[in-house]
Amino acid sequence: MKYYNRIVQSVAAAAALWFLSATPGLAVEAAGIVPAVAPAPTPSAAPSASGARYTVKAGDTLFSIARSFGVSSASIQEANGITDPSLVKVGQLLVIPGAAPQAASTPPAAQASPAAVPAQPSPTPAQASPIPAAPAPQPAGAMGKDPLFFEETGFRIANDQFWNYFNRRGGIRTFGYPISKEFLLLGFRVQLFQRSIMQLNPDGSVTTMNLLDDGLMPYTRMNGSSFPAPDAALAGAVPAPGSDAYFDRLLQFVKERSPDQWSELGTNFNKAFNGTVLYEEAYPDGKQDPGIMPAINLELWGVPTSAPAYDPTNKNFVYLRFQRGIMHFDKTNGTTQGLLLGEHLKSIITGVGLPPDLEEQAKGSRFYRQYNPTAANGLARPNDLPGTDMRGAFSRDGLVVVDPGHGGTQVGAAHVFSDVILVEKDLNLKVAQKTADILRRSGRQVMLTRTSDSQVNNPPRDVTGDGKMTLDDDLQARVDFANTAGAAVFLSIHFNGNNSSELRGMEVYYNTMRPFSDKNRRFAQTVLDNLIASTKAAGYNMVNRGIKPDETAVGKGNSFYLLGPADEDKPRATQMVGVLGEGAFLTNLEDAEWVKQEKFLDALAAGYARAVDQYMQSAGR
Ligand SMILES: [Zn+2]
Repeated sequence: MKYYNRIVQSVAAAAALWFLSATPGLAVEAAGIVPAVAPAPTPSAAPSASGARYTVKAGDTLFSIARSFGVSSASIQEANGITDPSLVKVGQLLVIPGAAPQAASTPPAAQASPAAVPAQPSPTPAQASPIPAAPAPQPAGAMGKDPLFFEETGFRIANDQFWNYFNRRGGIRTFGYPISKEFLLLGFRVQLFQRSIMQLNPDGSVTTMNLLDDGLMPYTRMNGSSFPAPDAALAGAVPAPGSDAYFDRLLQFVKERSPDQWSELGTNFNKAFNGTVLYEEAYPDGKQDPGIMPAINLELWGVPTSAPAYDPTNKNFVYLRFQRGIMHFDKTNGTTQGLLLGEHLKSIITGVGLPPDLEEQAKGSRFYRQYNPTAANGLARPNDLPGTDMRGAFSRDGLVVVDPGHGGTQVGAAHVFSDVILVEKDLNLKVAQKTADILRRSGRQVMLTRTSDSQVNNPPRDVTGDGKMTLDDDLQARVDFANTAGAAVFLSIHFNGNNSSELRGMEVYYNTMRPFSDKNRRFAQTVLDNLIASTKAAGYNMVNRGIKPDETAVGKGNSFYLLGPADEDKPRATQMVGVLGEGAFLTNLEDAEWVKQEKFLDALAAGYARAVDQYMQSAGR
């Protein structure tokens, strides 16, 4: 084949190594490091008067323009003598250095909605390298919206090389959204994505780790799905490296083992393989022979390591295992795509959202529940993971964690009317979901500690490590959830109850024994003020019981588990500003009559949401 060149050879060699690393007894390294296509070249800093012309339109930023042309905003700044990047004006004519002139007729793709779908890279300067550079990421600043930030997950792709690889290998379609910051794992800079982990190699190249390798996730059951194990006989049939027409035979092997038709189903495995990366994405300069594309797709998937197989519990699903991913055909909608293996690895590392079947298999893994945001290096067992630093790896700036109090067997307060029973745990969830909904629509990142009628510690574990299963385990699970999610603020939503049916009104609790207690107090006041105002505007004149240190409820020197510092009975405390809101007394008839009304719950949610927004804004977020 005419496209046999150095690049293809190196990719083919990489494929061979994947094979080795997937073969029992021949594992080269747990992390599955493979030689990669050459590193991205540093974008030329030389300004040029040649290139496309573009007229700035309303809503454009230097970032959005640079991104849509596939160049760096710094190069546009330089070429046009722009000293203050926030000062591009509508109607201003810009030279886009290095961009092909025909791109001038193509306006930058509008910030698509949903916002995180990145614009298709437009033509970039000719590059000698097999991976032309994508626009370099830069910190968000005066230019406003950060184009490298993905609202869906709350993470950005901050590393030039990762950003470049992301763009040149199919973006969200291939990798999904980023689900971590960049961090150090077993000696490598890595970033987790929904479908894979990117790894920066010492030579500057980027590869994805072999997630299914023995050292990472050699599992066959994840979240109720069962997929085939690697087939040793099939591994023996993979063409040997160095043999005649090795690369052609390798691709032939992939073609034969990834059928588009299987068992009378249009599984489209080979089509999905070939459609992984588009030529225009990999080579926007159009200078590479398109015949290289199978090699690129081989780089991302490796070769099939199993025959197609039905999910034993669901005949609508057919799986095909590759070295670096599992293709999933879903008969109900006819789609074929890679499983979210990166998310599964993250759930093993953090313990959040870890499905019981995966947990059972991963218990002996050195990654299992390793993330501990309050420990040195962010690790629960640092000796198991040398060369690893997970501090801040999963923390998100501006994330709000809303905690609907109680759940499952913990009912909370209640009020029995003749026609309806008000149950606190249900009301908490309802108001929390309404609050989250409002915040998300205003662009905030929100996570709920629970989204159904269950405890947060579910299935139940001894989270506190005291050898007992108590209510503390559920409360600790809520604390751990907020810490692991990397929340900036924590809001626990409750309704009140008291032996005296006379007590009524709203109050907000905060803790005074934390390093950030002044902020707790300020957040509590903001929440209370907004709850009062919002319910008043809806026609409810609530009694204002004020903001209160939580020790007034549990005794001097004591704290609510959710808000207070760690102590001998409580291994971990929340690491962020937090309050606990009590919207009304269910044990008071007048309050309960109002709680019965959806309009009142809506007003509470609006108040909570506005308070969070105000507080975050005042904190610069
Ligand atoms: Zn409660």
